[in-house]
Amino acid sequence: MARNRKDRDSWGNLSDKSAYDWSSEEEEPDGRARPVQVLVVKDDHSFELDEAALSRILLSEEVRDREVVAISVAGAFRKGKSFLMDFMLRYMYNQASEDWLGEPDEPLTGFSWRGGSERETTGIQIWSEVFLVDKPDGRKVAVLLMDTQGTFDSQSTLRDSATVFALSTMISSMQVYNISQNVQEDDLQHLQLFTEYGRLAMEETFLKPFQSMIFLVRDWSFPYEFTYGQEGGMQFLEKRLKISENQHEELQNVRKHIHSCFTNISCFLMPHPGLKVATNPHFDGRLKEIDREFINNLQVLVPWLLSPRNLDVKEINGNNITCRGLVEYFKAYIKIYQGEELPHPKSMLQATAEANNLAAVAAAKDLCAGGDRPFLAPSELQARHGEIREEALQVFRGVKKMGGEEFSRRYLQQLEAEIDEVFVQYIKHNDSKNIFHAARTPATLFVVIFI
Ligand code: GDP
Ligand code: MG
Repeated sequence: MARNRKDRDSWGNLSDKSAYDWSSEEEEPDGRARPVQVLVVKDDHSFELDEAALSRILLSEEVRDREVVAISVAGAFRKGKSFLMDFMLRYMYNQASEDWLGEPDEPLTGFSWRGGSERETTGIQIWSEVFLVDKPDGRKVAVLLMDTQGTFDSQSTLRDSATVFALSTMISSMQVYNISQNVQEDDLQHLQLFTEYGRLAMEETFLKPFQSMIFLVRDWSFPYEFTYGQEGGMQFLEKRLKISENQHEELQNVRKHIHSCFTNISCFLMPHPGLKVATNPHFDGRLKEIDREFINNLQVLVPWLLSPRNLDVKEINGNNITCRGLVEYFKAYIKIYQGEELPHPKSMLQATAEANNLAAVAAAKDLCAGGDRPFLAPSELQARHGEIREEALQVFRGVKKMGGEEFSRRYLQQLEAEIDEVFVQYIKHNDSKNIFHAARTPATLFVVIFI
């Protein structure tokens, strides 16, 4: 793989490819379509938009003035997104054909061409070919496919992931949220986090900032409860997103929030594709090695997402957006995230750990807040302070706390500083009780006289 050198890409332009890993196809001269990383989150958590690549794709003459349908598949790594997207590509390339799925022995290519060696880069890839599709109403629209991925498993990358998901939700007209096995509470919380993050950045006044959200549950294993497909999915989702009185307020809020963000919400339950797909390192995507049930559902899912009449054009503030417009929005949105005004999102765990540490600080501080005390000689006061301080720190240490030692240390320091501050106040207060001392101080005398 070529790195750290100037290269001629398939459009014949010279480009510096040192910034990140390009596919080898990028270097092939035949101009074949391929995934292109347009947004990358770098190791220092900064975002980089490859404006040149984005422009090459979206501003090409055939598509730039067409209204755009932007379809994003978003979710964590290693959950079968690329695998699915490659079938979406097959559908797009064989629109008119009944047999869009292809031959039983044909390896699957496209987003997953890198197989197991794929670098897990948080960011957005788009397919370099924008498809032109005739909608039944006669409009010719441009269809853009995006692969958005990140990870929510560590605090340091949470903001990165929330940002790329927020961006892809803002940019797309259909967001497919690819999740594994079930819709768990933390899937909903992550969705809340990144839609909230999107909303913060958009600051718009209209009610529903985003368009369609499709929960795609992979490896669904309870078809006897809710059947595979869209109908079972909707029933299942309705149950998962139902707001009920006896639910904890936080659970209610997540649900209300999700309902308030999207114009359309739907769900599709996909079966497991079979062990060859899930575990065989040499599996290359050929149909004959995929479970029939999966294929049957793929034949429903993909046209349901991509058939011409189901393609929704991207709207922002009620206006249909063209490819050209989308580039501008992309650039504008990314600027917001590159700035520092946006608050950093917190995970539920972090927020909970913070609250729990603050509660321990409060409990410990309570100890120091004695009522009115008689005057103490300064040396006695110092000794008493030392005892109380130690007791308070003991209380703090004794409370079971979340977030780990390192995390709690900050709160311990905060507690120490606050206790010392209380002590300073005490000394002042104590001094004022020493009437002899007070009488000698002109300022105090002054106050006494004028009260
Ligand atoms: P991505 O990182 O989300 O794009 O995941 P990939 O599409 O690269 O797939 C990761 C691995 O999961 C590959 O080994 C696939 O063969 C496998 N895979 C693809 N689809 C599914 C699925 O629906 N269920 C399971 N269990 N594995 C899948
Ligand atoms: Mg992938």
